[in-house]
Amino acid sequence: MIYDVAIIGAGPAGIAAATQLKRQGMSFIIFEKSRVGGLILNANLIENYPGFPNGISGEDFSKLLDQHLNILKIDIIYQQVLTVSYNYCYTINTETDSYNSKYCIFACGTLPNKLQKSLLINDPKIHYDLSSLKTVRNADILIIGSGDAAFDYALSLSKYNNIHIFSRTEKMKCLPLLVHRAKLVKNIKIDPNIEIQNIKKTSAKTIVNFKQKGNDNELEFDYILAAIGRYPDSSLFETVKEIIPVNSSFVIGDTISDNCRQASISVGSGIKAAMQIFHKINF
Ligand SMILES: Cc1cc2nc3c(=O)[nH]c(=O)nc-3n(C[C@H](O)[C@H](O)[C@H](O)COP(=O)(O)OP(=O)(O)OC[C@H]3O[C@@H](n4cnc5c(N)ncnc54)[C@H](O)[C@@H]3O)c2cc1C
Repeated sequence: MIYDVAIIGAGPAGIAAATQLKRQGMSFIIFEKSRVGGLILNANLIENYPGFPNGISGEDFSKLLDQHLNILKIDIIYQQVLTVSYNYCYTINTETDSYNSKYCIFACGTLPNKLQKSLLINDPKIHYDLSSLKTVRNADILIIGSGDAAFDYALSLSKYNNIHIFSRTEKMKCLPLLVHRAKLVKNIKIDPNIEIQNIKKTSAKTIVNFKQKGNDNELEFDYILAAIGRYPDSSLFETVKEIIPVNSSFVIGDTISDNCRQASISVGSGIKAAMQIFHKINF
């Protein structure tokens, strides 16, 4: 069988594309390597998505996305897409299966920037999003970074833990609203002008050596979460972009949103891609 469309990724962008394709009566498949919702699962409180006047947590928002898929009877293929090739149609390969489609929507989102390897001694475990820390309680957690994600993670994790935020700069690169909220939480400590020297794993804790205003310091933590930016994951698209027909593929969502990465923008790009495919086939 050749589907009209294959969608890779079931974050807000991929799900929006799927709902629109369904409405248009087209055949499609959608792949997800992890959980429905993608990055938005990490959000503490979404306050800028129209229709949720009191805000909604990322988990609850993702449950609604899941519900929307169920109501429309859209099944997700929970497999990671490993390769995509093109020979008169797209072939999408997972570990166990291959699928064919006429069009392909790449909605793979972003990947986290990693800390420099030279800073890490004895292979300490560094977390790069919230998913593995959601059930942690009564721990000392260091969050490295000063952007929206760092502060959003701090507000989430501070409900049950002590949080330290290390920022390299004096001025936070974050929405003032989030900084203001974090400052009101007594178990969030914000440290500017930090230059991390190294992060060392010991048997019980992780030790962080750093310089602040020229002075050497050391602190111990149970967990380290680095939120130091993300980059577009266009790796699958890159492998086929030279050989595919013009306008047969769409890269959508955070992957192409530069520094304006928001769920509503991703959703818009998903709807638009699905509509463009419909117009191309029908008119
Ligand atoms: C802490 C935090 C708070 C946020 N708060 C807000 C907010 O309040 N409001 C707002 O609008 N936005 C917020 N965002 C941003 C929002 O999460 C993103 O803009 C949105 O999730 C992007 O959607 P997307 O579908 O483009 O990508 P993603 O959500 O990243 O989804 C991509 C999906 O593709 C899957 N995938 C990738 N590669 C493959 C593959 N090879 N095979 C199968 N599946 C694959 C991934 O597992 C993922 O599920 C926040 C982000 C963070 C980190």
